[in-house]
Amino acid sequence: MKDGGIGYKPDANDPERVFMDSGLPEGISQAEITFRVRGGLRGSRVVRRSAAEFAHLRTVEQRVSWWGPAARVTLTEAERYIDQVRTTLGARAEEIRRRREGVDLRCTWCERERTYIGALGFQTGEPGWLSGEPRKLGQHIVHQHTYRCDTCGSLAFFADGYLEHPLPGRSSPPAK
Ligand SMILES: [Zn+2]
Repeated sequence: MKDGGIGYKPDANDPERVFMDSGLPEGISQAEITFRVRGGLRGSRVVRRSAAEFAHLRTVEQRVSWWGPAARVTLTEAERYIDQVRTTLGARAEEIRRRREGVDLRCTWCERERTYIGALGFQTGEPGWLSGEPRKLGQHIVHQHTYRCDTCGSLAFFADGYLEHPLPGRSSPPAK
């Protein structure tokens, strides 16, 4: 159901609820829009957008991290909010795509494309008090996407969580 930071219930074409956790205004970590009509015990009830008279917008502020009270907004305002998030997410995806394609994977020395050999786990640690040996506490595994030159064996690493791997290969340097 979720697609790049926006989720729709029950479907994207005519949703009752739209949940967003990315591409939001500064300081907002989550937002939910529910489409509504007047009625019900609580003054309004959730309906599909096509049947709605207005909408409720609720957000989570990063600094407090709980849901604020619902604000009543017009359907136009609700649509504009969702559109803005979509636009931001679209621009971000485009930027990531551009960056992925811009990475030159050729080995500097051998002038050949490095091969993706997977996400390797590296153990990290902090030196303990006095001993200088790594402490057990604070050790964890970080994954690095790794590309190896099959001629000289040199490696290129990318931390997990930034770009999607394997990157699209490049046979020539990006045009300047
Ligand atoms: Zn090489």
